[in-house]
Amino acid sequence: MSAEIICVGTELLLGDIVNTNAQYISKEMAKLGIDLYYHTVVGDNPERLAGVMETALARSSLIIITGGLGPTKDDLTKEVVASYFGKKLYYHEETAKHVKAKLESYGIFQMTDSQRKQAMVPEGALVIPNPVGLAPGLIMVREDKAVVMLPGPPKEMKPLFEECCRLFIRKLSDHVFVSINIKIKGPDEMPISVIGESPIADELGDILDSVNPTVATYAKEDGVLIRVTASGKTRDEALLIMKPTVTKIAEILGQKIAWVREEV
Ligand code: ATP
Ligand code: MG
Repeated sequence: MSAEIICVGTELLLGDIVNTNAQYISKEMAKLGIDLYYHTVVGDNPERLAGVMETALARSSLIIITGGLGPTKDDLTKEVVASYFGKKLYYHEETAKHVKAKLESYGIFQMTDSQRKQAMVPEGALVIPNPVGLAPGLIMVREDKAVVMLPGPPKEMKPLFEECCRLFIRKLSDHVFVSINIKIKGPDEMPISVIGESPIADELGDILDSVNPTVATYAKEDGVLIRVTASGKTRDEALLIMKPTVTKIAEILGQKIAWVREEV
């Protein structure tokens, strides 16, 4: 299975912005063990986007597109991909509710036509709600080819990419992923200055830079969660790969640990 990235945006071609999306996705794909062979950048032009998509789908089975999912006239990604798959766009009620709620939280109570456009999705697409902005992530699959569409702004693209991985992309890899969660005691048991996210991250130091397994910290209301994720050919191999890291974390944090559990 091989993959490639298409980043859409005339701003990229003009050098007005740096293509950090391609960099981020490339790194994540490497961690997933998926072969990524091409990056393409194309302007906000439907014919040229259709052209690069056709080339990409002829040689790769997974295409990740970022950008052009917004409400303006030059945002054409989902229209072009839908037409490639021979599908129409339809008004997706769930997305419309999400867009409405987001706008209301900014004090906007009337949707404009272009905001309504955000709720249009291709028939048959898997729709992934956007936790940060308005445009959802979209996945379209035909036979052994898949196209993942993500919004351009990195703060929206990253969580949606993560969600697409959880739901879909990881399954395309011939690796399995296993996560162990390590819960640090809550503030009622230890001072927050000791068990807050940054003191814990400081204690873990270089461990957080590890690639397989990856180690990430998450601030939760009742304490910090550390997630150690390894990939291997089997669950047992992944557990074996992460064992030295989990042991090291247990040695470093000792008494601060409330529990250690495999994520199901
Ligand atoms: P929007 O709803 O913001 O229009 P969009 O999905 O249509 O989102 P674009 O219009 O293509 O995305 O880009 C919006 C902004 O996202 C750009 O101005 C830029 O700041 C950022 N962006 C887009 N593509 C990239 C990229 N490849 N790398 C880094 N940032 C990007
Ligand atoms: Mg846009």
